[in-house]
Amino acid sequence: MRKFDPDRPWDLTTLPTTMAPKGSKPHAPTDDRCFLGAGDVPAAPKLQEAVATIKNWFRASSLNVLAFGTGCGAIELRPLSTSRFDMSRFGISGAPSPRQANVFIISGYLSTKTLKRVIRSYEQMPNPKWVVALGSCTINGGMYWDSYNTIKVLDLYMPVDVYITGCMPRPEALIAGFDYLMQDIKKGEANGWHHYLENLEWYRDNQKKVITDWDLPNYSW
Ligand code: SF4
Repeated sequence: MRKFDPDRPWDLTTLPTTMAPKGSKPHAPTDDRCFLGAGDVPAAPKLQEAVATIKNWFRASSLNVLAFGTGCGAIELRPLSTSRFDMSRFGISGAPSPRQANVFIISGYLSTKTLKRVIRSYEQMPNPKWVVALGSCTINGGMYWDSYNTIKVLDLYMPVDVYITGCMPRPEALIAGFDYLMQDIKKGEANGWHHYLENLEWYRDNQKKVITDWDLPNYSW
């Protein structure tokens, strides 16, 4: 090997294969390609925490929305994708089917007949997934509170991560709702989908009380 020439630092053929800074302490042998010594490797729980934080950050920045326009509030969803409100600047885009979506928007009142389709769509979405309920009708039935065939509280049938109040909520309110959802996802607190899996029996009981012709497939939870 030729002698290392400081005037020709670009000539890598003269470099020794391993270099240690002068006066550095020897450490436990590691993989040659790894710059971390044994003492520098983060403890496992901290590493897991860091990975979870990064994953949640990515998830919150990539929301693929399945919009189920059940009520009049659905009309306020459309402007979100136009240049005035421009939801794509937040990483929010539409999804063509439940299989490609991770956010489910229920935009208004739900008849018992529609609830069945909504539950089926929700269960087809892959985990993790989040539900945004739009308008007063999803919270307490709204102006349909005493209707014979609409449900009143959506939370009894599927987990809702964010409610956006109003009749109907404006696009600005929708963006604020998405902002809440993104903050919750980043903090790891938007766990409605997990709650659904853990309490499936309770949700099923509630669902079957209003859906009398139950023939939904079992998605093998
Ligand atoms: S909350 Fe108001 S706008 Fe939304 S579905 Fe109900 S009645 Fe319509």
